[in-house]
Parts: sequence; structure tokens; C-alpha cells
Amino acid sequence: MSPGAAGVATRVAFGDLAGDDRAKRGAIEAAVSRVLGSGWFILGEEVRRFEEEFASALGVRHVVGCANGTEAVALALAAAGARPGDEVVLPANTCTATLAGARMAGARPVLADADPETLTLDTAAAGRAATAATRFFLPVHLYGGVADVEGLGALACARGALVVEDCAQSHGATWKGRATGGFGRAAAFSFYPSKNLGAYGDGGAVATNDADVAARLRELRQYGWTRRDFAEREGWNSRLDELQAAILRAKLPYLERENARRREIAERYDAAFAGLPLTLVATRPGSIPARHLYPVRVSNRDAFREHLAARGIETGIHYPVPLHLHPAYAFLGHRRGDFPVAEAACDTTVSLPIRPALADPQVEAVAAAVRSFFEKTR
Ligand SMILES: *Cc1c(COP(=O)(O)O)cnc(C)c1O
Repeated sequence: MSPGAAGVATRVAFGDLAGDDRAKRGAIEAAVSRVLGSGWFILGEEVRRFEEEFASALGVRHVVGCANGTEAVALALAAAGARPGDEVVLPANTCTATLAGARMAGARPVLADADPETLTLDTAAAGRAATAATRFFLPVHLYGGVADVEGLGALACARGALVVEDCAQSHGATWKGRATGGFGRAAAFSFYPSKNLGAYGDGGAVATNDADVAARLRELRQYGWTRRDFAEREGWNSRLDELQAAILRAKLPYLERENARRREIAERYDAAFAGLPLTLVATRPGSIPARHLYPVRVSNRDAFREHLAARGIETGIHYPVPLHLHPAYAFLGHRRGDFPVAEAACDTTVSLPIRPALADPQVEAVAAAVRSFFEKTR
């Protein structure tokens, strides 16, 4: 069978948002229609109820909606007390949004390398990177895997610093039965459409167990207002809108089931790839990952991606360039070689399709295409 013919038979898109939501379409349309009929579009009943429902799903006291995940990082740091010049230690291998958010809060970012097994912020490296000015550790639960919340919590505590989590990829992931989003002073979530819980546009939220942080978040997201037309301290504008909140409310009840399906697919891949000369990204013992992405590590990534593409299987790279090698962040003063684990991850990881709506034959097609690559090149 020619690769072209196989491609037609087994096409597996990396992302298919409309397909993923087909079963939820009725509930989403009803939610949109409810908001259109209400005539109320900013900070109303839908946002309030989504905040309650998401807080309850996470097991945290407060959730405050905002405009996107990047601003959620900035708001989380600011509400947790970040002042201009405060140092924030974050991993060198994350989405640029994590760093952009820290910068928006006026913080001074300090990069640290990742742990080679899980590719999340390495606690020992974070400790070495920290200085007397370090006030925050900002781990990212990358790919939906849980970062070392215990080690980083202890490190922060010993240094009189705080943990703020980036949960943009970890909606519903747990460690020892507790959801990510409750392990630090505050936690940032993104509802970018492709996230495990995604809106139909931009959206974000900050979770916290601290009532003062929650109150400050509510001021910051709307001009600094403590009451209508009155600002006690300076604020921004970063609001979740009613339409997005209503859509998120319609989708939230599916999150757990969808995460379970993601894990089922990941387990299928894990089993299919045992013994192949590729490296899996480990998940932390005691954690239940959200499997936002399923990266594998291969030495000849371009050939690997071409082989899969020829069989109709799309892949992605998360992420091709570590933070310190973006021209925008040259001012951090790093160069290639400074974060070898992050650099190697960026050079070798390739993400396979892992969407809850993938059918078993599609999962099998991905697994077979991966296996055939190594049979061909052996
Ligand atoms: C998606 C993402 C963000 C930013 O989210 P936006 O809603 O696009 O601003 C932040 N951090 C990580 C790790 C992400 O994956």
C-alpha cells in the first residue's frame, strides 16, 4: 500500500476543535443563546457561576475569571504581591506565554533548567537559580503532567518565597488526589480553544485559596475598582466575558471524562512504543496527568514527522525554541548551552495527536505509523 493511500484511509488531524465538541454542540448552542437573550455580556451571572463551578471542580476556594492565560499568569503574580523587580524563577522550556505573563507583572524572570524525566521545572536547578531577590517559583505543569509541587513548595517555604502555578495545560490533573491549581498562592489557567478546557475565543482564570488574593484579583481585572468607578489601587482590564463563561460552563461537565479518554490513549501509546528507540516523557509518581499533549523524544525528528505525515498523521512541536534563545529575550543574557535539558527537549520532542474524540482505529493508526518508522530505519 502506498503511503498516499494509507494517508487517505487513516488521516489523523492534530487538532479538530469542531469535531471534539460535536457531542456538546447542543449544550453550547443553548448556552450562547441564553447569553444573547440576557443582554448582559460582561461580568454577570455566567462568569460568577463558572467561577464557582470551576473552583468546586478543582477543590479550591476561589476562581476569578480573566481575559486569557498570559494575563492570568500576570494577575496571579501581581495579586500574590509581586512588585516590579521581584525575581520569578520559571522553566526555560515552556510556552513563551509563561514568560510574557511574568514580564507583564513587572517581574524579573530567572530561568532554570528542566528535570530530564518529566521536563518540568527541576527543583535543584530552581534552587541554584534563586537569589536573595527571588520571591516566586513559577512551575508549569507542562503537557498536563504535574510539576514537583512538593519539592518546590518546600524550596519556596525555606526561602520565604511563594509558588504560583501555570496550569494552562493541566486542567484536572492531580497529585496525591489534589488538583493542580491549589498548590501555591495562586494558579493561572488558560481557556485558549485547544486547551483541555477551551473557550470559543480567549479566556483565562486564576485560582487561589486566599481570600485577599481573590479580592485583589477582582480589583485588578477591572481598572482597580473596589466599587463602581472607584479605584483604590491601579488595575488593568482583563475580564472573562459572559459568552465564553457560558460556553465553559457547558463544557466543564465533560472535562473529567475527556481527561480519562486522553489517559486511555496515552496508555495505549505507552504500551505500543515499549521497546522502540524513542523516549517517553515521564509523569510524576502519585500524579494523574491531564495529558494535554503526548510528546515523545526522537533523535531524527524531521524524518519521523515526515514518515507520519506521509501516512496522514499530523504532529506538533512543543516547543521548538527554549525561552532563552528567542531574540525577544536576548536581554536575559543567556546562550545555547546554558540550559542543556531544555535545549535537548526542544530539539527532540514531537507531539502525537491525543484528543478525546480520537477513535480507537485512529489511535491504532498513529501507533502503527510510529512503529513502522523504526522498523523502516532499523
Ligand atoms: C496556553 C498557555 C499559556 C497562555 O495562554 P493564553 O490563553 O494563550 O494567553 C500560558 N502558559 C502555558 C504553559 C500555556 O500552554
